[in-house]
Amino acid sequence: MRLLGSVLAALCVGAALHADHAAPAWGIALLAQMLFWPPLAWLLARRSRDPVRVELRNLLIDAATAGVWIAAIGFDALPSAMLVALMAMDRTLAGGPAFGLKALASMALACAAASAALGFRFDPVTSWDVVLACLPMLLVYPLATGLLSRGMAEKLFEQKRQLERNSRFDIATGLMNRQQLLFAATGAMERFHRTGRPSVLVMIDIDRFKQINDRFGHTIGDAVVEQFAHLMRACLRDVDTGGRYGGDEFGIVMPDLQWPEAIEAAERLRRQVAACQLFPEQLQCTISMGLAETHPLIRSVTDWVQLADSALYAAKRRGRDCISIARPPAFVARASAEPVAPAP
Ligand code: GH3
Ligand code: MG
Repeated sequence: MRLLGSVLAALCVGAALHADHAAPAWGIALLAQMLFWPPLAWLLARRSRDPVRVELRNLLIDAATAGVWIAAIGFDALPSAMLVALMAMDRTLAGGPAFGLKALASMALACAAASAALGFRFDPVTSWDVVLACLPMLLVYPLATGLLSRGMAEKLFEQKRQLERNSRFDIATGLMNRQQLLFAATGAMERFHRTGRPSVLVMIDIDRFKQINDRFGHTIGDAVVEQFAHLMRACLRDVDTGGRYGGDEFGIVMPDLQWPEAIEAAERLRRQVAACQLFPEQLQCTISMGLAETHPLIRSVTDWVQLADSALYAAKRRGRDCISIARPPAFVARASAEPVAPAP
């Protein structure tokens, strides 16, 4: 953009200098600035440890030199107004309104200094030749700025979408992350307390995953996690939320269902994983699962997760590759004579 701006501005300023019969030294200076300043500014920013700061300084230098040229062309109306407008627009776009004002101030200062040094000359009438020379700048530069701004806005929008996605999903598996899983569990629990519609939380852990890593390496371990996530996703109903709780532990929130269907769904997933031929190196992999249903006395999602987790560890203690159902917690057992769920 600096190169494009320099070339187009040099055309207008050059025409104005020509119309004023300026000394050839002005033309040479203009040509030198057009050819050498854009690559030099790019190099300075590129080589700096703080390229943004250097580029903002470069933008102020651009504005100051534009001020010098305005003085040199005796405030020729059209090119001068165009330089002021474009400098203000560009610099405000790049650094905000305060920076735009700073650029205008440096432009005015440089213009005043150049007028003092060269002798103040005020000849604002723009000749027809200069008007024609300004047309490319008037037509091309705003269009290029518009396209650039549009491209940057699209890039930012895409990055924002990606960030939002990354903040909700586990990148390796594409499943919801722990935070979203807990969010879904909170929703299911609150709905249960409001409407009495039960939900089941299933916590899942891959069995002896450390051994898989040790024997086959972490890359294969990662592939196992991915393949398990794929199988898990395929087993979910539309209303279920499956997520990665952390490491080799996963969770599923199953809303609007009770033990029999939840056990059936969990058992289906367990069987599929155990029978899966997809794992690399003919690797056998199994999972253990703990299930906990919503209960009137479970009022925090942490308690609900703990309950499902305790069932999961019971499944591990029972030898793994099995499902365990949460015993009602002690406070629930005291409150009701009948257990809420069958004991494992
Ligand atoms: P258990 O049957 O008792 O669950 O035994 P385990 O070996 O699976 O033990 P545990 O669940 O405590 O350990 C899981 C290990 O999995 C610990 C960690 O190094 C590894 N792990 C966690 N996340 C990943 C991952 O994304 N990729 C790989 N390759 N390894 C992981
Ligand atoms: Mg494990």
